[in-house]
Amino acid sequence: MESAAIAPNPLPNYINGEWCASHATEFLNVVNPATAEVLTKVPLSPQSDVNAAATAAATAYHSWRRTPPTERVQYLFKLKFLLEEHLDELARTITLECGKTLAESRGEMQRAIENVEVACGIPMLMQGYNLEDIARGIDEIMIRQPVGVVAIIAPFNFPGMIPFWFLPYAIACGNTCIVKPSERVPLTMQKVFELLEKTGLPKGVINLVNGAKEAVDAILEHPTIRAISFVGSSPVAQYVYSRAAAFGKRVQCQGGAKNPIIVLPDADMEMTTRITADSAFGCAGQRCLAASLAVTVGEARHTFTEAIANSAQNRMVGYGLDEKVQMGPVITSQSRDRIEGLIQQGANEGATVLVDGRNPKISGYEQGNFIRPTILQNVNPNSELARTEVFGPVLGLMHLDTIEDAIALVNSGQWGNMACLFTNSGAAARKFRYEAEAGNIGINIGVAAPMAFFPFSGWKDSFYGDLHGQGRHAVEFFTQTKVVVERWPKDWSRQF
Ligand code: NAD
Repeated sequence: MESAAIAPNPLPNYINGEWCASHATEFLNVVNPATAEVLTKVPLSPQSDVNAAATAAATAYHSWRRTPPTERVQYLFKLKFLLEEHLDELARTITLECGKTLAESRGEMQRAIENVEVACGIPMLMQGYNLEDIARGIDEIMIRQPVGVVAIIAPFNFPGMIPFWFLPYAIACGNTCIVKPSERVPLTMQKVFELLEKTGLPKGVINLVNGAKEAVDAILEHPTIRAISFVGSSPVAQYVYSRAAAFGKRVQCQGGAKNPIIVLPDADMEMTTRITADSAFGCAGQRCLAASLAVTVGEARHTFTEAIANSAQNRMVGYGLDEKVQMGPVITSQSRDRIEGLIQQGANEGATVLVDGRNPKISGYEQGNFIRPTILQNVNPNSELARTEVFGPVLGLMHLDTIEDAIALVNSGQWGNMACLFTNSGAAARKFRYEAEAGNIGINIGVAAPMAFFPFSGWKDSFYGDLHGQGRHAVEFFTQTKVVVERWPKDWSRQF
């Protein structure tokens, strides 16, 4: 079986440059969602492990922040090549513990590497600015300095990529770092840290603490940890945001989503349905940029509905390690039960189940958490299905008469992660881009995922904070500005 010798059991933490056993008394099984095979056990680290990581990071900070940025990025250059060299192994690990297809796992790691590449530009990105003679003989300088010890708390659905929205920028800017991966998918970060260790980073600069709520609470309350980057569900994002702020920390929290796609009658229907299906059913819908509602306007309804139903029915579902498979399982059986419950509730509240993916039989993988792509038609906009994040391969269809009605529907939701429009009209596209209340907009794009050199924007209940992950926002988040006003009169200097 794939799990043989894949990782130590239980998994260790990585603190102060050493792999060490957690002081945990509780452990969770890490389970392959396609086969139900137990891959290893993860410790639920207690406060003492977080304390040890914070102490190590604080000790390392003193000399790491004095290491020139040009030297700091050399470790990231090494990391980029190590990640590329081990890309297939990392992708297999993601598929084993998270369930997505190998192609999706490779794509995820590619995005992680892109963030390392962007962070290698820190010697330029981290620069401040200055102005001579703000008054006669007085100069003013703004410099960026690191924040100190920072922590990253990650969700289950992109175990390889999401920590990289933050980690490369954090350490390139001179901070030292603690990563707390999701307890459901801790193996990928274990492998990433083995590679980080190979870069020769000084001990204590990066630390890995496995665990769940207790570890998160210890991070939120620890006085040495100055900044927190969180990605996960909105209720936990809200909790982390308010608790970290109460302890005086800088904090950015990316939350959940419910992403609408609008299809105008002039859209290229073949492209639109193909892209919408990839968005809704890719990663089994467990993506914060998954299309969850498709709103057809006017005549778009009939062609789109028929084509998207075909696309859903024909998607090949199975074990992600099989290269032919287009969609894997969802993360846990509880998650599958919740999604199936929401489908039923949607039907109870007036929708028609056009393609029903519940209780599929996937030969050879009867123990897996599979749901096939599911489409509900005529979803009631006030129903639970229309308002709740499903986080599964479920697409709800709605129909409206005008683009104004469709934009009003987009803007009525609590979320603001992504909204997309499919059209041939530049004027409609501009109106949508201008008016839609979401931080990531797709025009004839189904997953509007920002590249590493743009911020991963999110609005409303999809984001709590000011500065997002990736690119310049990450550099700003991981640095604090210092302004220096200087006067050096001539008669104080013997040179003149
Ligand atoms: P989650 O909120 O359950 O867990 C996220 C992290 O918080 C994990 O590390 C977990 O250990 C910790 N955690 C969970 N419950 C906690 C609690 N009560 N107190 C303290 N810490 C707690 O999220 P998930 O199920 O792992 O991930 C899926 C969610 O993440 C979805 O809602 C998805 O939309 C969201 N997400 C958002 C983005 C984005 O960029 N906006 C990206 C990916 C995922």
